[in-house]
Amino acid sequence: MATFKELGLSEDILKALTGLGFETPSEIQEQSIPRLLVSPRDFIGLAQTGTGKTAAFGLPLLERIDPNDNCTQGLVLAPTRELGQQIAEQLDIFSKHMDKVNVLAVYGGAAISNQMRALKRTQHVIIATPGRLLDLIKRRAVKLEQLRFLVLDEADEMLNMGFKEELDAILSHTPEEKLTWLFSATMPNEIKRIVAKYMDNPIEVKIDAQTKVNTNIEHQFIATKASDKTEALMRILDINPDIRAVVFCRTKRDTQGLAEQLLGRNYKADALHGDLSQAQRDRVMKRFKENRLQVLIATDVAARGIDVNDLTHVFHHSLPDQNEYYTHRSGRTARAGKKGISIAFINTRENGKINRLSKQLGIRFTKIEVPGANEVAATRMEAWCNGIIAKTSPKKIDEALIAKVNELFSGLTKEELIEKILVGELDKLQTKSSKNLNQTGSDRQEGRDRDRERRDDRKSRFDRNDRRERPEYSSSVRKPRVRDNGNDQGHGSWKKKERRSKPSGDTNRYFINMGSRDKISKQDLMNFITEVAGIKPSSIGTVDLQGSFSYFEVDSSADKKMVKFKGITLEDGRELRVNRDS
Ligand code: AMP
Repeated sequence: MATFKELGLSEDILKALTGLGFETPSEIQEQSIPRLLVSPRDFIGLAQTGTGKTAAFGLPLLERIDPNDNCTQGLVLAPTRELGQQIAEQLDIFSKHMDKVNVLAVYGGAAISNQMRALKRTQHVIIATPGRLLDLIKRRAVKLEQLRFLVLDEADEMLNMGFKEELDAILSHTPEEKLTWLFSATMPNEIKRIVAKYMDNPIEVKIDAQTKVNTNIEHQFIATKASDKTEALMRILDINPDIRAVVFCRTKRDTQGLAEQLLGRNYKADALHGDLSQAQRDRVMKRFKENRLQVLIATDVAARGIDVNDLTHVFHHSLPDQNEYYTHRSGRTARAGKKGISIAFINTRENGKINRLSKQLGIRFTKIEVPGANEVAATRMEAWCNGIIAKTSPKKIDEALIAKVNELFSGLTKEELIEKILVGELDKLQTKSSKNLNQTGSDRQEGRDRDRERRDDRKSRFDRNDRRERPEYSSSVRKPRVRDNGNDQGHGSWKKKERRSKPSGDTNRYFINMGSRDKISKQDLMNFITEVAGIKPSSIGTVDLQGSFSYFEVDSSADKKMVKFKGITLEDGRELRVNRDS
């Protein structure tokens, strides 16, 4: 296996990779980097997400950028805002020791004016989602005349998401002589069309779908009720006092709440999320890096760019919605050739999620149990005893004082004395509850717990003050909830809802890029439309739910409300598109 140095990368890049704890190149990196560093040909890399693609194209791209040439030389198109941000974050870290290469991510769901302002400065590399880039091109805010490298990342996903026209339009704005590097997990006909139309005699490399970047990560999961997750985490921390971990939560509120609970129980933990000021965040990170904190609790967004590479564990207090996030989260452990463990807390109804992650990312999960209360108490007791044994006094204690204490305790045997001291400590040494925290499919409570978890989950998703964390100026809207009985045909509640009054006047038909593939029913879609646009259900006419898109009719008096769909990003990072159907 080659080393990064043997692939031909410069010292500046190698230094950054060492800092990141990347020791050996992944397969796609080994195959791509030497070619992309020098080749004058287009390139196709067939590789799944999570195989190390970002470095595979990002490192040679950075090496080939001329920082003294003040123009946009590299453009990376990515299907979602999250992926775009991750790429930008990684390029920033990779180029840390290089002459300044400016990298900017632009994506929908964030104020375009800020992005236009940033584009007034030289951006050597732009990472963009197709919809927003096209918008910026139309506004003449991006200049691509000098473009030398175009990367299409997750090209199949971009097409799945309906960006065909945008891609065609963007490609027509780029110079002929540029090199195109296309990465895709699959090679459907639409990709073949792009290759035939826009690429010239490309080199093609294919990576086995099961290839993993980091085989040093052990993936585990624990089945426990949502209400027991925190106690389960504490038990694991108690049993393994040398853990140094990041715990990922989905929302700022969960992050803060968990940190407070851990702090309240004397764990060296703190939270990192977007509601903290930069100074507060820096302070938390400093303490974590100096080992004054054992556990950092973070949202995915806030954890971006943290360069700590000696984590023993990553915990998923809740699983992320997107696979990339799982890979990114767990990839924070097992750096620099060390082993690492990724532990996801799930409840039994999330088994399907684990199976999907396992299949799509090609990783094997092992189920582990939450340690029992007795085991935890014994470990805490031992640690407490060892703490006492290791204690030294900074000052000499007055001998008269010791004599006095001895005299007072003289009526007690050593056993009696230990017992009495222990009584005072029991609260701290025993776990809060002695119950078994492992959830089994046959829990009698399960039905009720499940309902409560669903309610909590819904509440957390629907709580507007506690959206999943997004970068500051973005607007995000939850995806309509999936309904178990959301069958549009036959019986079911949708049919009942059909009886609602419909618009009596003129209506217009609209296209929306959401459909049954998003696992939504007509009713879900209708709820979503009424809520976002702020219109009554009676203003909506026929809803025609298709696969990846739908049509709906709206009373023409509500037309002006349709602008409210602008600038919205769905939970999976897609830009929402609603257009009048002509
Ligand atoms: P990517 O497929 O580029 O999103 O990478 C997936 C994860 O693997 C990210 O967390 C990267 O930081 C990590 N990663 C990429 N290349 C390497 C490498 N050569 N060694 C260790 N980790 C890597």
